[in-house]
Formats: sequence, C-alpha cells, structure tokens
Amino acid sequence: MSHLMNTYARQPVAFTHGAGCFLTDSEGKTYLDALSGIAVNTLGHAHPKLVAALAGQAQRVIHVSNLYHIQEAEALADALARISGLQEVFLCNSGAEANEAAIKLARFYGHRRGIDRPVVVVMDNAFHGRTLATLSATANPKAQKGFEPLVEGFLRVPFDDLDAVRALADNANVVAVMLEALQGEGGVTPISSPTLQGLRALCDAQEWLLVCDEVQCGMGRTGQWFGYQHAEVLPDVVTLAKGLGSGLPIGACLAGGRAAGLFAPGNHGSTFGGNPLSCRAALATLEVIETEGLLARAEATGALLQRELKRALAGAAGVKAIRGKGLMLGIELDRPCGALVDKAREAGLLINVTHDSVIRLLPALIFGEAEARQLLALLVPLILDFLKG
Ligand SMILES: *Cc1c(COP(=O)(O)O)cnc(C)c1O
Repeated sequence: MSHLMNTYARQPVAFTHGAGCFLTDSEGKTYLDALSGIAVNTLGHAHPKLVAALAGQAQRVIHVSNLYHIQEAEALADALARISGLQEVFLCNSGAEANEAAIKLARFYGHRRGIDRPVVVVMDNAFHGRTLATLSATANPKAQKGFEPLVEGFLRVPFDDLDAVRALADNANVVAVMLEALQGEGGVTPISSPTLQGLRALCDAQEWLLVCDEVQCGMGRTGQWFGYQHAEVLPDVVTLAKGLGSGLPIGACLAGGRAAGLFAPGNHGSTFGGNPLSCRAALATLEVIETEGLLARAEATGALLQRELKRALAGAAGVKAIRGKGLMLGIELDRPCGALVDKAREAGLLINVTHDSVIRLLPALIFGEAEARQLLALLVPLILDFLKG
C-alpha cells in the first residue's frame, strides 16, 4: 500500500526518463508526451541546455535566502518585466502561491484606498489553485466541498461577459477582476479579445486591478509570451508558474501600473521563492524560447494541429468544438471522455481530459511538425473509434 496521501487517481504507469517530446516508463515503453506534465515541461524532457544550466547552478549554489540579494532572481525579474510589460516581480514556488500573492496585492490595494472589505471579481469555470483563497476563487463546487468556510471577498460572474462585470460598477468594494485569458481546467476556453479589451477599459475607469492568471496559458504556450497579448492589453497583475521553470517549481506574481510599488518588507514573503536553482531553470527556459524561436514554433505547430484536427474531426458526430491557441488545444466532445486517456496511453500517447468532456493537448513548445503528425495519427482514430462505440 502506498504511503502517499490519496489525493490523485494515478494512472498505472511510472516514467523513469525522457528525451525531447518522449517519455519512457519502467517497462521500457516509450510515449509521445502531448501533456508536458500539464503545461510544465516547456522545453520537453532533458533539454541539454536546461540540464547544463541546472548542473552548473547546483555546483555553485542552490539556495541562500531572500535575506540576501540573489543575482539569478534579479536577472529573472528583469527578463519577466521585459517580456510582460510590467515592472515588478514577486517570486514564489507554484501557481497557487502566485495567485495568493495577487489576491493579497489586490486586497492591499483596496485597503490603501480605504476599502475595508475588498472584493475580487472572478469567473465561472475559473481555476486558480488549491490553497484556501485560490480554491475560493476557483469555480468548482466539487473541489470546494468539505473545505468550507471558504475565504470571503470573491464575486463570481459568467466568463467572457463584459456586461456582467459592468453591472458591478456600483459595488464600491470591488478592487480587481481576475481571469484566465485562456481557461485551462475550465475546458480550454479563450476569452474574446473585445471582452478583455472592454475589461481593461472598465478597470481603468473604475480604478480596479486587472489580474491575469497566466499560470497555464503563459510562457509562450499560446504562441505569444502571454495569453493577454493576443488582445493587446496590459494587465496590472500577472501570475505565472507551470511552464516558467520547465519542471523546476517556480511561480511569479508580476505587478505594473497602479499595482506596482504597493508591498514593502514584511507584507509578503516566501522562504524558497526566487532561489538560485529555480531562477536558473526559468532563465534557461526564457533563453531557449528566444534563441530557438519557440514562440513562432508553438504558433505554427499549434495552427497545424488545429487545422488538421478540424479537417479530420469537425464533421464527426459527437465533436462539439475544436479550440485553443498555439499549443493549448481542446477538443470538446458531446459526452464524458475520460476513458480516452487510458486508450491513448495504451497506444503510446499521453493526453488529458478536463471538464469531463474536453480532450486537452499541452505539448512542449519544442513540438514540431513530425511530432504533430505523429500525435494526429495516434489520436484521431482513437477519438473516431470512441465516438462510434
Ligand atoms: C495549475 C493552475 C494553477 C495552480 O497552480 P499550482 O502550481 O498547481 O498551484 C492556477 N491557475 C491556473 C490557471 C492553473 O492552470
């Protein structure tokens, strides 16, 4: 019997090593990885530049403490500010922590403005994490059940509905609007550009913070560095994690505009946050994305995948939608399809199903045309078979 706490329904497979877009299990069977540890392994597995950067860093220093200056953290903050358009970076260890920092920042901003009971507007189908505050911001009653009382101070509205947020303009306690530009767990659903632009204008008019949770859709996954860049808006707060360190745990909360300059020493912190090893992983990730042109590659490979999936599946009875951006793709069926995960794995392909009926593809940004064609050849027949059965 496992001594691990029973928090995951684990699939009957254990991987021992990987290379590029492939993973090998303890029996020696190799799989095409179209999930990347849920959008984490940005550079695939065992990328030589990442491995060398980590080995070199481990030999120098792994952890010191935020009681001291950390050059790797400074360099990472510079790079994240450059690509995001925001000014300041708080470094932590996960997506939930990045969102906790964002929620605390929004509340702090409210208190500064004399709002004692600040409210953050959140969306239907949102996923923001598993800590108490981020679970409260998440729109999943099943995940919340048994953990009440939830954290107060959230108001939920339908996703991609500007009028629903506008209707809150009279609520003097609202301080921020928090959303995923492309919802991940919620079914791979993008917000429309006009809605996001409208929310930006509304937040400006109301002096609310626009908070974009880019934990899943950020770091190049959609073919731009960040999901919000497709709408050409600039949020006040952006959160990152998953793909930021290509597998090393690291998260970040970025702030700009009226959200910058709020925290002072003592307001927030993290023991591990910004440690040299995790920062080195993120720096190597950014460097490889830039030097190997992985944004353009994600866009091109994603476009090919989406086009071919639509060609092969769009007419099939039972396929409701094929959507997403770059290498964040969803195929929505008209029925629960969790069983496809096992069938795919047996065929040598790693995928995921989210929101019961959405097949989710999140391959590494190094995925190219050859891997895309292999993925299509494995996945399309499985889906067609499944829909017949
Ligand atoms: C995964 C995810 C989180 C939570 O990240 P953890 O690292 O698991 O805490 C938050 N927001 C979004 C959009 C995510 O996809």
